[in-house]
Amino acid sequence: MNNQTGISRKRFLTGSLALAGVGLSSVWQRDHAYANIAQKQGEAATTNSEDSGMRLILLGTNGGPQPNPLRSSPAQVVLVNEVPYVADCGSGVAWQLVSAGVDLTDLGYIFVTHQHSDHNLDYGNLIYQAWVSGLTTEVETYGPPPPLKQMTESFLELNEYDIETRIDDESRVPLESLIQAKEISEGGLVMEDENVSVTSALVEHPPVEPSFAFRFDAADRSIVISGDTNYSESLIELAQGRTCWSTRRSTSPVWRSWWRMCPMETRSTST
Ligand SMILES: [Zn+2]
Repeated sequence: MNNQTGISRKRFLTGSLALAGVGLSSVWQRDHAYANIAQKQGEAATTNSEDSGMRLILLGTNGGPQPNPLRSSPAQVVLVNEVPYVADCGSGVAWQLVSAGVDLTDLGYIFVTHQHSDHNLDYGNLIYQAWVSGLTTEVETYGPPPPLKQMTESFLELNEYDIETRIDDESRVPLESLIQAKEISEGGLVMEDENVSVTSALVEHPPVEPSFAFRFDAADRSIVISGDTNYSESLIELAQGRTCWSTRRSTSPVWRSWWRMCPMETRSTST
């Protein structure tokens, strides 16, 4: 990724964050602005060799799969040492990543919180669009069964003609060989590399099971991202000792109960 394209972590992060209730509400223009701000502010960002540069960019904060001219679908990216870790793949995620200045050929990790279409509709499209942008390295994907592997195989089958054409005509590497789809059914350590370790916890989002929250731990800070969730003890435990941040307001009593547990200064909501 281009180092000139990140957003200052000071603007988006204060310590650690818990982002809950994805299907978050915001206008599309605001989502698009987030991405563009992320790109422009990166030009002024300073580099500290002792920190991970960990930051979060909200790529889409709308709830529901219906197209909305004012909102983009759920997706976010955690950047650690400029390596992108994408969480959820709502419609338009590739476009939003590009708007945020993330080089799609750097795509290496995708995490799907749950299998509602507003969170996975562009799962295959993101990988495909990274591939046609020049991706030649593996992409590890993590998410709940049953559809993660099935979605991967079905997407490749659906686009087989185009993919084979581009392999022959454009000398691209076989797309199928780049995708490592790994289904997760229980909470625990998901993956770790030199930048981050990722831990999952099961959250309550009936009737969609399993549904996950993910915690990203870098050397100097942590970010917790949940998909849609009701009040969930496991999410609280996952984010233990961390500040909380939610941008979705719910009228449900369980949500309000959870919300009251978040420190006042860390609350951020929209309707
Ligand atoms: Zn959902």
